[in-house]
Amino acid sequence: MFNRFLLFLLLAHCLFVAHWVHFGNGAADASIVIVATNVTFQDRIAAFGPRLTEEGLTGNLVTAASIDKNNVKGCERFKKPIVGKDLIILIERGECSFIDKVRNMQAEGFVAVVVGDPVHRTLITMYATGDTRDVQIPSVFVGQDDYQKLTQLSEMEEGVLIKLTKDDILQPLLDVIIVVILSPTIMMIFIYIVWRIRRRQRRRQDIAPPQVVCNLPIKIYYTSRRQENDPTECCICLEDYQDKDELRIMPCKHEFHVACIDSWLTRQKGFCPICKRDVCTATEETPLLP
Ligand SMILES: [Zn+2]
Ligand SMILES: [Zn+2]
Repeated sequence: MFNRFLLFLLLAHCLFVAHWVHFGNGAADASIVIVATNVTFQDRIAAFGPRLTEEGLTGNLVTAASIDKNNVKGCERFKKPIVGKDLIILIERGECSFIDKVRNMQAEGFVAVVVGDPVHRTLITMYATGDTRDVQIPSVFVGQDDYQKLTQLSEMEEGVLIKLTKDDILQPLLDVIIVVILSPTIMMIFIYIVWRIRRRQRRRQDIAPPQVVCNLPIKIYYTSRRQENDPTECCICLEDYQDKDELRIMPCKHEFHVACIDSWLTRQKGFCPICKRDVCTATEETPLLP
């Protein structure tokens, strides 16, 4: 039961790490700041194109929908020429590849591209295959919520001034540390604690309850009363019995010093060290012994 649980835990952990590595951790590495209000949206920079600088990139946000309702996703060039300077275009994910969108918008003269997800909230990194050295403008990805808010903002007022900035490099690094180092460590500590609890439980099951041990009969040893086959020494401490020594008589009729056997039964194992008969099942007869 415990092993199966452990296996399940390990499997769940591996799946989590695999999922994290494969799909990304959903963390942002860049931000979009509305210059007038300082409201910030989390985004992620594409794997292709130039990186964002410390100063950031400022421009007026326009939606593809406001230019041409039939080209919301930016999969083709616009039918009419774009008027304005330093424009950042907001387009929707889907229909064509990210790189096609960015190339189209670069050709239209936009200084940066914001790609919004119409369905999912998770941030993804936009990848492209082949040579992408022709891409001269940065592009970022935003999730569904932020895509909607940015669309509303740019529709409310003409030309919202936004700034694309990059975030602290420390955050993704911190995520890596958490996933690669901390999470297995926490897992190992948890397994260790469970193992300790289980070991303690098993020990408690092994030993005899003190009240059972106390109820076992005691006799006083006298050398003069010794019979021929009676043992002369305690098998636990290996010392000879002396006159007036207190001996505990086990259900199996084996005898030991009271201190020796009590300590054995209540701390080590709940059975006779010689014949291994359990003291808790004392009513049972052992036919081979007198
Ligand atoms: Zn002894
Ligand atoms: Zn015994």
